[in-house]
Amino acid sequence: MRPVTDLFQEAERQMIVCNACRYCEGFCAVFQAMELRRQFSRGDLLYLANLCHDCRACFYACQYAPPHEFDINIPKILAQVRAETYEQYAWPRRFATLLGQSRLGGALFTLLCIAVVLGFVLLVRGPEIAFGVHTGEGAFYRVVPHWAMAIPSSAISTYGLAVFAVGLLRFWRDTGGKLSELRSVRAFLQATKDVVILRYLDGGGEGCNYPHQDFSSSRRVFHHLTFYGFLLAFASTTLAMIYHYALEREAPYPLTHPVVLLGTAGGIMLMLGTAGLLWLKRRSDRMPADARMLELDVIFTTLLFLTAASGMLTLAVRETAAMGVTLAIHLGISGALLFLAPYSKFAHAVYRSTALVRFAIEQQQNRAGH
Ligand code: SF4
Ligand code: SF4
Repeated sequence: MRPVTDLFQEAERQMIVCNACRYCEGFCAVFQAMELRRQFSRGDLLYLANLCHDCRACFYACQYAPPHEFDINIPKILAQVRAETYEQYAWPRRFATLLGQSRLGGALFTLLCIAVVLGFVLLVRGPEIAFGVHTGEGAFYRVVPHWAMAIPSSAISTYGLAVFAVGLLRFWRDTGGKLSELRSVRAFLQATKDVVILRYLDGGGEGCNYPHQDFSSSRRVFHHLTFYGFLLAFASTTLAMIYHYALEREAPYPLTHPVVLLGTAGGIMLMLGTAGLLWLKRRSDRMPADARMLELDVIFTTLLFLTAASGMLTLAVRETAAMGVTLAIHLGISGALLFLAPYSKFAHAVYRSTALVRFAIEQQQNRAGH
């Protein structure tokens, strides 16, 4: 891995070459933001890196890409700076390297989480409950009591949100943002629209140069399935909480219940999207890729796939003797995913959205002539 100072110096060198060349200026937001600058501070580079969505168009179009002596590889250098962002703004930073960027660390931590929940079910609740058949309202909570699900998941979520909130404010400050700018409703609306329609993933209509040089919409399709599958699964969990706390109706719910329908649609979309993204990643050109970002991608996408798959399996076996163990495995994987969020590729959602808000503000100021 390149030392951090060298990394930013190299990113600055490549940006200066691009700023003189400007052949790619219509490709994406990165080049529009780059052209507003003459010099590139560390904060500028963090901002530009998180505007890049790794479509790779600028790599295949570049006359200065390797083997040219200028050695310009914008997707790779910006991916390296992005990986540095996720590590730099995580707390404690060591967790990012040990768990979020190491397949072995991520796998061992996930196995540990599964072992903790399985151990609780087998040893504390006992084999009769673990391997019994439980049906009707409250069946899941006869295996893992509601408090044993709600307290750890609330604590981990609160911790993750706090880590992200601090990281986000530091990122905003380091990239030159002012706290008063965070009140810009127009910028937030523009950035939200860009995120919701995943505006920059269509490559101007032809798709990305991913997994290879040819234009393809496959990454966009799988990314959409993953993104909207995640939102549906989140909506299902939120609705289940409303039913539990406000309407006093305990899970599991009938197959035609909105909670189950949303969760099933979300789970299937997540499985298809994440499996597709992993398949594309396996086939993708390694030349414009960064090894550390590849680790982050594979760990997070695999965990998302396993969470969705184990959730769907729990639904399929919920009225059999396999439900107890399957539920424990699902809760262990989900717990690992939740805990690793601030140290994993999930950080992409936070820092990319923040960079898009900053981009919207900058474009508005530019149009207004500031
Ligand atoms: S990536 Fe290459 S072609 Fe594109 S602007 Fe930079 S130097 Fe020019
Ligand atoms: S890889 Fe795509 S998104 Fe990133 S800088 Fe190049 S053209 Fe822009």
